[in-house]
Amino acid sequence: MEPYWNPELETKPWPEVVAWQCQRVAQTIADLRARSAFYRRKLEGVGGAPSGPEVPRWLGQLPLTSKDELRRAQDVAPSGQPLGAQQAVDLGRVVRFVSSSGTTGRPVYYGLTRADVEAWADGVANAFFTAGIRPDDVVAHLVSLPMVAGGTAYALGFERIGAAVAWLGGLPPERMLESMASLQASAVLATTSFVSYLSEHGERLSGRPARQLGVRKVLGGGEPGLGEEEIRSRVAAGWGTDHVRDTMGLGDVLASMWAECDDASGMHFNGQAHVLVELIDPLDQEPLPWREGVSGEAVYTTLDREATPVLRFRSGDHLVVTGTSCRCGRTSPKVRCLGRTDDMLIYKGMNVFPTAIRNVALDAAGEGLEPQLRIWKEHPTQVRFDDPIPVEVEARPDVAAERYSLLARRVEEAVRSRLQVRVAVTVTPPGSIPRSAYKAALVQVRSPDLAGRD
Ligand SMILES: [Zn+2]
Repeated sequence: MEPYWNPELETKPWPEVVAWQCQRVAQTIADLRARSAFYRRKLEGVGGAPSGPEVPRWLGQLPLTSKDELRRAQDVAPSGQPLGAQQAVDLGRVVRFVSSSGTTGRPVYYGLTRADVEAWADGVANAFFTAGIRPDDVVAHLVSLPMVAGGTAYALGFERIGAAVAWLGGLPPERMLESMASLQASAVLATTSFVSYLSEHGERLSGRPARQLGVRKVLGGGEPGLGEEEIRSRVAAGWGTDHVRDTMGLGDVLASMWAECDDASGMHFNGQAHVLVELIDPLDQEPLPWREGVSGEAVYTTLDREATPVLRFRSGDHLVVTGTSCRCGRTSPKVRCLGRTDDMLIYKGMNVFPTAIRNVALDAAGEGLEPQLRIWKEHPTQVRFDDPIPVEVEARPDVAAERYSLLARRVEEAVRSRLQVRVAVTVTPPGSIPRSAYKAALVQVRSPDLAGRD
C-alpha cells in the first residue's frame, strides 16, 4: 500500500509546498475581505498581495489573530449569525458547529460547511494515516466530547481512511475496555493522560491489563507528554506495543494537523493541503525559520475554510523543531509540543516549560518516580520566579519514604545542570497528585483568588 495519504504534497520539497500555499494565500485574503466582517476590519489599510517570492515576507507582516479577539467577536452575535463577525457564510450553509475545548476561558465556537467537513475529513485522515492507521484497523475512539476538535472530526478522519470507528468515549472506563476486547480494537486514540490512565488502571477496572487487549497502535494527543521518552516508554509497556504516536491539531484551524510517522522522532505537519503554518517568537512576534532546535509558537492560516476562516491565528502552542528531513520521505518539519505558551515559566531570565522539568525529572530519577508532576504558582498570572520554582513529584509505591529527599535532590541537580533553572522539589507519596482522565494540569495556583486569600 502507498505509504503516504497525499504523496504529492507530503514529498514535494518543503520550500515548494510553501510557495504553492503562498499562491493560495493571496486568494484567501481577497476572499476574507469579501466574506468576513471581522477580517474586513482587521485588514483595513493592508494592500493587495504581492506575487511570487515576496509573499512569505509580506505574510509575516500581516496582523495576527488571537483567540481573545475571536471570543470578543462572538460576544456580539446578531440573529442568524451565531458565530459573530468571524462567520463568513450564511447560516444556511453551516452544517456543523465545533467548540474549542475551553481550557483557556469561555469556549469559542466554529462552523463547518459541507466543503469544510470534506476538507477536515481529508486533513485529519492525512494525519492519522501518517500515524499508521490503515483501513483494516478497528479504532477505539475514546474522546467523550463530540463537539470538540477531537470528537466528531476525528471519527470523520478515521472513516475517511476506511478504518472502523468504535466511538467508546463517554462510556465508563471499564465498559470501554470490555468493548475494545469485544470489537477486537487494534488501535486506540485518546488524550495522552487517558491512554496513560487506562494502561495504569486497566487491570483494576476490567480484570485484565491493557497489554492483553490486543491493541497494536496507540495514538495520543491533545496535550504534550508522548514526546517525553519516559512517558512514551511507560505507555508502550502498558499497552504492550512500540507503535505509540503523538498527534496534535486544533478546532480553530483543523482538528488534527500533526502526527508522528514510523520514525517517531517528532510530529510531521500533515495539513499542507488546507493550512499554512508559520513559527513565530511569542514575545516579539517575528517569524522564525523551520530549523532543527528552533522553538516558537505555531501560527496558522486556513487556505480553504469557508465558515470560519482564520488568518495568522496564534495557537498558543509552543513547538520545538526536531527535524526537517526524515527517513520516511516526508518533507514537512517535525516538531514536539512543549506546552502552552501561557505555561512558560521564567526563572531569572531563563525560559522553561513544565513538560521540560517533568522530562528531566523522569530521566534523572524515573526508577523511583511516577510520571506525575505539579508546579505551584503563587497567583494565576505569575510567570517569573526569583526563588527556586516549587515542584512536586510523586514516588512510586515501591520507594521507601526515607529515599524521598535523596530523589528530590537528584531531580533538583539534574534540572539545574540541564535546564539552567533552579527548582525546589518535594517528593510526595504515591497517589497524592490528582490524576486527570482528560488532560493533566501541570501548573497549579496556590491562591486562585487574586486577592491572595486561601
Ligand atoms: Zn517521517
